[in-house]
Amino acid sequence: MSEKSKYSVVVPVYNEEEVILESYKRLKAVMDTIREPYEIVFVNDGSRDKTAIIINEICEMDKTIRFIDFSRNFGHQIAITAGMDYTEGDAVIVIDADLQDPPEVIPKMIEKWKEGYDVVYGKRAQRKGETFFKQFTAKVFYRLLVRMTDVDVPLDTGDFRLIDRKVCNALKKVNEKNRYIRGIISWLGFKQTGVEFTRDKRFAGETKYPFKKMLRFAFDAITSFSYKPLKLASYAGMLLSVFSFVYLLVVVYQKLFTDRTQPGWASILAVNLFFNGIILIILGIIGEYIGRIYDEAKGRPLYIVRQIKNFSDDKKIDDGR
Ligand code: UDP
Ligand code: MG
Repeated sequence: MSEKSKYSVVVPVYNEEEVILESYKRLKAVMDTIREPYEIVFVNDGSRDKTAIIINEICEMDKTIRFIDFSRNFGHQIAITAGMDYTEGDAVIVIDADLQDPPEVIPKMIEKWKEGYDVVYGKRAQRKGETFFKQFTAKVFYRLLVRMTDVDVPLDTGDFRLIDRKVCNALKKVNEKNRYIRGIISWLGFKQTGVEFTRDKRFAGETKYPFKKMLRFAFDAITSFSYKPLKLASYAGMLLSVFSFVYLLVVVYQKLFTDRTQPGWASILAVNLFFNGIILIILGIIGEYIGRIYDEAKGRPLYIVRQIKNFSDDKKIDDGR
């Protein structure tokens, strides 16, 4: 452990007992071909299965494997953040544990990095073995996001990427609680490029992003980079005022100059229900933002670490944030 690692690979894991060993083996095989010092940092995001035990065993055998163990589940994006906080490499690579992002792409990323790029993201040219629903929602989401925000987030990229030490240090200054890391990295700027790859199907187990988590993730992405949903209220309001005013004129005209006064409360009820619905939706949107402001205001730490393993002796548990 005397030699400083040049590359740091960060792997967030949550209930991955079926894949973790295979994932370790394939990553190691790829990193060994590069012939430069590296470290692999597994971040256990409060798994409830044997994941932590298996990583502990790997750590006993192999001292290049480092381990950050969370006190509970804090979420994928936060696990990645913690991994980055503790790494020391000149280039940091983030990769999923389930082998959907093939480790064999890493050498290509490193090549680009050596050419002078600071961020090399993996671009999913094709996605294998994912449901139509997942692929469809992902496609819609990434396109919607581009339209809603001013930040140039590259289409169809995940968190599988390489970032330079400079970028990693800059990222440490970003303290927001509801994080959309790929967006933040784009926001940081620097010299960016992509390498294309085919996203494989999961090696084993099932996705740790059920629909509910995906939705929350999408809201985090949009709210961290755009106020547009909030403007919805003003636009809808303005449009409605214009319509109502015109309609008011019509009603007054009918009252004064014709004898066609209209009965019918059904139409009133329908209109009322419709607009109550809209108002509730808009209140909900405002609520999403306020909830996130509340999270920021509390200023709690992003994550709590239970133990760390195989880091150099001067690293402490509170070296994160
Ligand atoms: N993950 C995590 N915490 C969570 C959910 C997921 O650390 O709360 C990890 C998971 O173990 C995997 C990566 O994040 O390494 C991506 O998750 P997954 O493959 O389930 O997402 P998908 O590829 O289906 O979008
Ligand atoms: Mg996956």
